[in-house]
Amino acid sequence: MRFETLAIHTGERPDAAFGAVSAPIYQTSTFAFKDVGKTRGYDYSRSANPTRKVLEDTIAQLEGGKAGFAFATGMAAEATVIHLLKVGDHVISGDDVYGGTYRLFQNVMRDFGLEFTFLRMDNREKIEQAIKPNTRMLWLETPSNPLLNITNLEMAVDIANKHKLMTVIDNTFATPYFLKPIEYGVDLVVHSTTKYLNGHCDVVGGAVVTTTDELTERVQFLLNAMGTCASPFDCWLVLRGIETLPVRMRQHEDNAFAVANYLLGHPGVKRVLYPGLESHPGYEIAKRQMMGFGGVVSFELKEGIEAVNSFLRRIKVFSLAESLGGVASLAEHPATMSHASMPKDYREKVGITDELIRLSVGLENIDDLIEDLGQALEPG
Ligand SMILES: *Cc1c(COP(=O)(O)O)cnc(C)c1O
Repeated sequence: MRFETLAIHTGERPDAAFGAVSAPIYQTSTFAFKDVGKTRGYDYSRSANPTRKVLEDTIAQLEGGKAGFAFATGMAAEATVIHLLKVGDHVISGDDVYGGTYRLFQNVMRDFGLEFTFLRMDNREKIEQAIKPNTRMLWLETPSNPLLNITNLEMAVDIANKHKLMTVIDNTFATPYFLKPIEYGVDLVVHSTTKYLNGHCDVVGGAVVTTTDELTERVQFLLNAMGTCASPFDCWLVLRGIETLPVRMRQHEDNAFAVANYLLGHPGVKRVLYPGLESHPGYEIAKRQMMGFGGVVSFELKEGIEAVNSFLRRIKVFSLAESLGGVASLAEHPATMSHASMPKDYREKVGITDELIRLSVGLENIDDLIEDLGQALEPG
């Protein structure tokens, strides 16, 4: 079956008990045993839950992996995955990853004896030079947040295989509809399902997809041991979102292209970052590696922070809010919002300037979105 069909029919749907077409929400903490020592497949919802299982199977199918796991948030998924490592292990991570990922690594896991090197993942020599005897993991994010830099997965996986490193990719921005990292040989896929997979800004959630029995067993163990799993109701919301993922992603992309092209022609705009633009440094790789370019567009204004604030105060259809990937358009200021956890000099070094604005282009009528940007960009 193909993507659109899998998104709607994977897992026990209709359900075995009564044929409910929508996966039932098993809002229960515990399950009665059939007999002493004999369950009906489930014993306690932290370990596993039937609603969560439908979501986990669906995400695993869409990514083409072995097994899926659903977490309370994207950060819960990442925190669990980083616990695959041990004291003294070294991780090479993209330098422009999600702000919360950077914070987890730099301000939490470092204190537990993990080492991190943050690098732009665009150059084989640079990555290979950073590899040390204790390097265990390459942490990738492509397109990255908020600069939409593209990592060449063929190159990254080739380096990882040569040096026996585990590869993890945060596939939140592209979603499996536009990028299938496992086809490139990536070991683990993580998601903030809060974003496109759910798609409606009404839940926070995360996911992990594994590619081997060993990783599956280990992630299941950690999820249960750490208690980082998602609630049944949240899983149901994400499941409902995923059913429309393909149509939403196609429209997000159409609208994002129109917004990017509009901004490109606007006299107040200094620079537009969208991997679908030929001017984008990652365009050629993105075109080859992805089935679409996604719905996030970042841009810099020519005028400084005053103009940024005026723009953010004037938008009406776009809401000034963190997050992305929902049907409603959002605008945010990475320097003070999503990436405020990065120190200023680090932010500037990687290119997240004070003038940078990130748009999550939603599914409203494109003329209304362009008109809104136009009025918000007017000088004065
Ligand atoms: C939002 C986000 C996360 C964190 O997910 P939460 O659900 O907010 O915990 C991780 N990675 C990326 C790329 C994100 O956009």
